[in-house]
Amino acid sequence: MMMKTSILKKVPKPFFLSFIFLYFLLIINPPQEVLLSFDTESDVGDEKAVQKIIDVLDRYNATATFFVMGTFVEQNPDLIRILYSKGHEIACHTNTHKNLFLISEVEQEEEIRSCKESIEKLGISIEGFRAPWRLLTLDSAKILKENNFLYDASLFDIQPNIFSIKEVYTSTSFGIIPADDYIQLLFLKLNKKLYFQGLKNIYDKKVSMSFHPHIIMVYETGFEELIKYYNQKHVKFITHKKSLE
Ligand SMILES: [Zn+2]
Repeated sequence: MMMKTSILKKVPKPFFLSFIFLYFLLIINPPQEVLLSFDTESDVGDEKAVQKIIDVLDRYNATATFFVMGTFVEQNPDLIRILYSKGHEIACHTNTHKNLFLISEVEQEEEIRSCKESIEKLGISIEGFRAPWRLLTLDSAKILKENNFLYDASLFDIQPNIFSIKEVYTSTSFGIIPADDYIQLLFLKLNKKLYFQGLKNIYDKKVSMSFHPHIIMVYETGFEELIKYYNQKHVKFITHKKSLE
């Protein structure tokens, strides 16, 4: 107890007060929209997981953005068509999930263009991109612009946008920790309300959370609880594209 008091005393007062004020603002002004996204990849069991996710989203009238690999689209064209027909957004997660920092500019363009073409071949227009491991390069951002992409969604809300393309940020847990699947599911398991508060982007009040389909299936009932909980709070699940309109 003694120790806690002394640590608190060391925190500069203005900093401490503004922190309290920010959280007070979040609590009295909850977000009305959630951007849910899935990085959908080949050879990890995402096909089965996506089918289950579709059922859950259907039950609560929720839409999401699926960042898909080109190879996944080639292997599962019917699944992509179903997603699109249900109002979900299909966006690009490169063709074969290479680290963009480790390949040439020509190869980066190939990774982006083949993925785009695989999706467009199905008659689906595409505006969004997320880099593998969220490692976006300056070259790739330029290539995205040249290929008429509207936005990138690789960055977390703690990072400034140094790229030439519009950014749709992913929320961090409590504005500190880049929220990966397991951290999010851990928070979710602990307390839904706290999880919700913790994911609010303090800049634009949007909550934007992203998952990997096969990992979310480890905690399938938790995922449905999450969607149901937000649904009861009258929170709308919208796609990335829609959030920019
Ligand atoms: Zn990925």
